[in-house]
Amino acid sequence: MERYEVVSKIGEGTYGTVFKAKDKKSGDIVALKVVRLDEDDEGIPSAALREVCLLKELKHRNIVRLNDVLHKSLKLTMVFEYCDQDLKKYFDTCRGHVDKKTVQALYYQLLRGLAFCHSQNIFHRDLKPQNILINKNRELKLADFGLARAFGIPVRSFSAEVVTLWYRPPDVLMGAQIYTTSIDIWSAGCIFAELSNGGKPLFPGNDVDEQLKRIFRLVGTPTERMWPEMQKLQGYKQYPEISPVPMSSVLPSLDERGLDLLKKHLVCNPRYRITAEEALKHPYFSDLDPTIAAWYT
Ligand code: AMP
Repeated sequence: MERYEVVSKIGEGTYGTVFKAKDKKSGDIVALKVVRLDEDDEGIPSAALREVCLLKELKHRNIVRLNDVLHKSLKLTMVFEYCDQDLKKYFDTCRGHVDKKTVQALYYQLLRGLAFCHSQNIFHRDLKPQNILINKNRELKLADFGLARAFGIPVRSFSAEVVTLWYRPPDVLMGAQIYTTSIDIWSAGCIFAELSNGGKPLFPGNDVDEQLKRIFRLVGTPTERMWPEMQKLQGYKQYPEISPVPMSSVLPSLDERGLDLLKKHLVCNPRYRITAEEALKHPYFSDLDPTIAAWYT
């Protein structure tokens, strides 16, 4: 730890406190995420430590690089590449409007990062604007990837507030325990909609019940034919039958192709959600800025 000099506290994250710090050896600015464990626990569970160390190998332009993991008694410090701001703060600077080309460029990068992690069998399980970071060059990087597997899916954040439900898919809201990459695709779709609406969240529910109602009011209540496994979920309850409304009614600035792509994310039955790999090939990206596409060639 002597290697790092703390500059300031950035915030309380889901898994710990985040600090901006200077690496005295390289002079680089880094982000330190410090996870403190309860006195009652016997140090860091070895499985969590092993998972976190594996994440050091997750190297991609659109994933926040984990440079190092330091472990001392009850404290685990993860040393990450530093990014200038998160998507939530970025929205605050946009004053309700993100231009179409920026939406496309940012969302393409989000899907790139997601497709890479999914190809490595790593899921995020808590994607939201606060853990999507953007640097000065408008490069987007996904943060906290794989941490849910190490520490468990978050219910409360480190500062004890209840974690937002806004980006959770209906299957998880109804208590599904088996998670697949489809959980991240739903969250990504909600973020795509939020980007297109200049930072206005798509489903800002206050509790599980209201969250599901908000979802069904837009995409319609799933029928047994559409999602036969739904009734077997532990948190299943019957909701009034509502028909879907056109996505364009809540996303006025998204074009036809964008609406079609979004629709393929927001499918209640997780089995039929698009994959990140497929989404990258969707016609919505056919006129993507060539400089961004060139990053990956
Ligand atoms: P998180 O645990 O990822 O939710 O982190 C809490 C806050 O710390 C986020 O809202 C980010 O603004 C900030 N943060 C997390 N990681 C980084 C990073 N690598 N660089 C800069 N800021 C970060």
